[in-house]
Amino acid sequence: MTDRSADPLPPDRCPGLLRPHLAADGALVRVRAPGGRLPDHGLRRLSAAAARFADGDLHLTSRGNIQIRGVFVDECGGVPERLVTAVADAGFLPSASHERVRNVVASPLSGITGGLADVRPLVAELDAAVCSEPGLADLPGRFLFAIDDGRGDVTGLRCDLSATALDAERMRIGIGGLSGPVVPITGAVRALVDAAVRFVEVRETLWHVRQLPGEGRELGGVAPLPRLAPYRMPYGVLDGAVSVLVPLGIITPAMASVLPDRGVIVTPWRGLVLPPDVDVDALADAGFEPAENSPWSRVSACTGAPRCSLARSDTREAARRTVAEPSSSRHVHIVGCERACGAPPFPHTLVVARSPM
Ligand code: SF4
Repeated sequence: MTDRSADPLPPDRCPGLLRPHLAADGALVRVRAPGGRLPDHGLRRLSAAAARFADGDLHLTSRGNIQIRGVFVDECGGVPERLVTAVADAGFLPSASHERVRNVVASPLSGITGGLADVRPLVAELDAAVCSEPGLADLPGRFLFAIDDGRGDVTGLRCDLSATALDAERMRIGIGGLSGPVVPITGAVRALVDAAVRFVEVRETLWHVRQLPGEGRELGGVAPLPRLAPYRMPYGVLDGAVSVLVPLGIITPAMASVLPDRGVIVTPWRGLVLPPDVDVDALADAGFEPAENSPWSRVSACTGAPRCSLARSDTREAARRTVAEPSSSRHVHIVGCERACGAPPFPHTLVVARSPM
């Protein structure tokens, strides 16, 4: 057994709805949306809750989840019970015990265009299976499942366990950075859940499969997974969908008001996949970017000042200035300190604020 006592990890403070994180601008709650798929009317209801109890905006994460920031907290550090009720009533809290471990990314365009298999049913099946396994409530809040329809979009997101379609019938299980068994597509969820249960048994205080002494061989991993080329999400009018980028991942109330009530999918690249009948001009007028060549596709930023107490600069404002300038084709990510939150998983230039920019 490896002695891990010499290198203790900080406690798991990954936020959820029932366990908020206290930031400089108030409490932050993170609402999970497995596969980025939102309940009908879900986004509009979240937006209404954010307007009533927080800073008014919805903030998309790099895992296809949604954060509400600037929440008023009482003297005990708790968020309003009516906010919790509103988010739960919108369909985002199927399990109180497992709310922070429902971290699933899935190919957003699966079943719509491209890919080798339609993995949409697997997302709901995996979510239900995770929530019905009592031991998986002890997964770390940063543990990530991925379901890839074979196009290689989400397996490149440094997930802990993945299932990637090889064709319409078979999936390869990925275990950290290692390749696991090939299973029938109907057995993929069971294989993922079994590996996750085994991880809980052996992880002690570790957060990720890659941190295990055998880097995942304990869970059946064998050889390194093939390295994939970075995936670029397409934007604009696609075959069967409209794909838009959300600048800085922020959906304001005005932007939320032009979105449809059904069929909204949050991507892990701070964008949305929408039904094909949406009004693209209205989306663009509201602030979404439906074009492949948008300058926002090359600029991102962490939360920054004044919302984060560690930030040395207002990174969002710096990002807006950067977008307004002629830029190179290389992606720029602007952060307020060395933690480099939200850095994209593809090659980019990292700009770290040393003082107000
Ligand atoms: S990178 Fe630093 S400043 Fe930016 S959100 Fe993370 S901790 Fe805050």
